[in-house]
Formats: sequence, C-alpha cells, structure tokens
Amino acid sequence: MSTVAWATPPEELPSPVVDNHCHLDFPYRGAVERTAAQILDEAATVGVTRAVQIGCDIDSARWTAEAIQADGRLVGGVALHPNEAPIHAAGEHPTGLDYHEALAEISRLARLPRMRVIGETGLDYHHTGPEGRDAQVRSFRDHIALAKELGLVLQIHDRDAHADVLDVLEKDGAPALTVFHCFSGDEAMARVCVDRGYYLSFAGNVTFKNAGALREALAVTPLERVLVETDAPFLTPHPQRGRVNSPSQVATTMRAIAEALGVDLEKACDAISRTSEALYGPW
Ligand SMILES: [Zn+2]
Repeated sequence: MSTVAWATPPEELPSPVVDNHCHLDFPYRGAVERTAAQILDEAATVGVTRAVQIGCDIDSARWTAEAIQADGRLVGGVALHPNEAPIHAAGEHPTGLDYHEALAEISRLARLPRMRVIGETGLDYHHTGPEGRDAQVRSFRDHIALAKELGLVLQIHDRDAHADVLDVLEKDGAPALTVFHCFSGDEAMARVCVDRGYYLSFAGNVTFKNAGALREALAVTPLERVLVETDAPFLTPHPQRGRVNSPSQVATTMRAIAEALGVDLEKACDAISRTSEALYGPW
C-alpha cells in the first residue's frame, strides 16, 4: 500500500500565530502516524507556535482533555459534532451513550483546566439528512447554552446550513465570543457575521483556485475579526492538496489571508495573535 505524504512545512512566518482549530488525534488513513508533540514541533519551526485542539466526539474529547494537560502549546475545545449528535439521539452510537449521557460527558470535560472552547457545534446538512435535523438543532442550542454558562468561546461548524445557523444564533442569543470555524459563506454572509460581532476563522480552502467567493468574503472582514486555522488533517492548502494537513500549513494560509486583505504579512500575523489571545486567554 502506498503511503500518503504529510504536507511539508512552508516558509517561516515573520511573527508567530495560533492554529485556531485542528484535530491532532484524527488518524489519516495511509499516512505514517505522528504524535501531537512531533506535529507541534514541526509547526513551531515555521512560526505556528500554539494550537487549539478540538475534540468533537466522545473519544476525541477525552483525548483532547489529556493532550492539553500534556502539552503547554495546546488549549482545547469539546463538543458533539453536528454529525455525531443525531447518532447519539438515535441510540445508535458505538459508545452506547444516548444523547443526554453524551452531552453530560462533554459538559464535564468542558470544565477541565485549559478548556477554552465549546465546539465544533452547529448544523451540517451535507452529511446528515433531514431525519437528523431536529437532533442537530437541539444539540446546537444545548452547546450555545453550555458556552454561555461556562463563559467559553463557541466554535461553529456550518456546512450548507448558513441561514439556519444564523437563525438559531439570533433566536437563542450567541455567546459573547462566537467563531465561525472554517468560514464558508459569501461576502453577504461575512457582512452579517461582522455586523453581529462574530469572528471568522479561515482555513486552507481560502487558497484554492476556485475559492474566489471565499476570498471576497475575507476581503470585507476587518482584520481584527479574522482568525486562521488548519482543520488538520483536512483541507490542506494549495499547492499541497492531497497531502496530510498539519498546523505548519497555517503559514501558507496566512500568506493568502494577508494578500486577500491587502495587508503586510507581519502585521496580519500580529493582529491574529492578539485576537486569538483575546478570545482564548493566555497560554
Ligand atoms: Zn474541525
């Protein structure tokens, strides 16, 4: 069996930044395994010095709770992913936990030290069909309430569900700090999010050749509302698409962000670092 290669580290950034959303525990089929420490060591060589590790199912959330204690470069986030909640709700989850038991475990883990995020939560109409929508909406609302209760940042997963995600946030009242992880809307939606005070986190897909609409959305977003992430191991930026993504690739996405915003790269890195600290606190 041929081995899938990891993306190689890009040129070093002029100033350090944080990867706002990654999954260091997800196995990537066909790739040589790397530990979180190895991945973060490599990222540090190009100026990506810290990361937010997101655990979005029960096993991954438990892994995250341990990883953020073990490595000072990480803080964590936990949630039931919008594609996980309906499986729990249907009583079909391999852990055997029903929805309420699973949410209680997320709520317990979210209170541990160094947990700074509730996420990713939201709506995904791409992978889950209409039969799962009620469970997704209920889970999204429960996670919004949990983020408010604990004073944590909400990270949103929105796949083909822009209008409904905005609607739920408006009806329930978004947490004070709300981030659209892997923002995928157009310019009009970016304007709505900015008006409402949300933050927009851009991933490697902003570098794709066919992502003109996403770059237009980015261009109307004030620098102080922009974040950068990998969503590793997914969404490897151009020109290394097809390889395994890791936090070092933030360096490539940062260059695309600075270019779309028409600002100096070092200035963009500094601004995003400040915003990341303002959201998640120091670490
Ligand atoms: Zn993710």
